[in-house]
Amino acid sequence: MKKRAFYAAAAAAALFCLAALFVSRSGVGAEPAVSENFRLGTYVRLSLYDFRGAERELEKADELIKSLENLFSVNIPTSDAVRLNAAGGAWTRIDARTAELLDMSLALAELTGGAFSPSLGGVTALWRIGTPEARVPSDGEIAEALKYTDYSKIELRVENGAHFARLPRGMRLDLGAVAKGYIAGALKSQLAADGVSRAIIDLGGNLDFVGDSPRGGPWRAGLQQPERPRGEYFGIIEAEDTSVVTSGPYERYFEKDGVRYHHIIDPATGRPARSGLASVTVVDADSARADALCTALFVMGSRRAPEFLRKHSYIKAVLVTDDKKAIITPSVEKIFRLTDASLSLFVLGEGE
Ligand code: AMP
Ligand code: MG
Repeated sequence: MKKRAFYAAAAAAALFCLAALFVSRSGVGAEPAVSENFRLGTYVRLSLYDFRGAERELEKADELIKSLENLFSVNIPTSDAVRLNAAGGAWTRIDARTAELLDMSLALAELTGGAFSPSLGGVTALWRIGTPEARVPSDGEIAEALKYTDYSKIELRVENGAHFARLPRGMRLDLGAVAKGYIAGALKSQLAADGVSRAIIDLGGNLDFVGDSPRGGPWRAGLQQPERPRGEYFGIIEAEDTSVVTSGPYERYFEKDGVRYHHIIDPATGRPARSGLASVTVVDADSARADALCTALFVMGSRRAPEFLRKHSYIKAVLVTDDKKAIITPSVEKIFRLTDASLSLFVLGEGE
């Protein structure tokens, strides 16, 4: 009798597993339908929950990523970014989405006092960090490139529904600090328009959550422990319908003569920012803003970033300093949990 009950249970379990497998393929039920592709220089993973036709939707999402990468990448010769960089100061027709990204970028550059700058392309092209040709440029090269980084001189205009932009001669765009966030936002809009109500957009650790989690309530995002293998976390953010983006020097760097040179450049010096921070995380419904703010707060560093956050108290941020403090804004207190006991937690007070 007992044996029969066991077999019945085993058969039921096997059936359930088969069902789960089937369900996971279709993306309907607890298991998501998942796609993983190498895009935007990183691994892009999209997970759709509870959605019929998920496979087609995932393909459509990948097409959108490729089409936006083809507009924004400085490594694709036909992109809007490359055409603008090569235009020698002439007005150039661009896609409406490039115009939107540039417009947002200029506003974010303004907001952050230039700590985030979309016009560092001449400087980042000298360092080439993240490529096999990474090198330390001379002081003269850096000084020369910095002459062409005044983003306030970028012009945009619309004529009969067509978008145009003009960079001063010699200026080069690099949209790498904001493009992933913008693309996450565009994906989110497309998914929402097609009726997806629950999804995770993971652009190499730039996370954007659609809806709430399948358990009900918020998703949990692990925050990457700086300098530790990927997937080791120092804390958890609870997020619903929002984006969670992290920037840190450990993400991309090279070493020369025992010195580490990372990929986040201080626009004031043209060199990797000496920040005092090990990572910055921003939680924001607008993923492009989260992305640009992360980079900017990292550049501001352990001294200026807390001042900026006190002044702009709507920003939700978690800073980790080189001396092992986790500094959070009061706005994330309820949604953040520190899991690494070796970090000490500080909540930013207003006007301290
Ligand atoms: P993120 O990973 O979002 O912090 O962006 C870093 C990337 O943006 C770098 O790899 C550069 O391509 C570019 N970048 C570096 N420093 C800055 C900066 N201060 N402002 C805007 N973009 C930057
Ligand atoms: Mg960024």
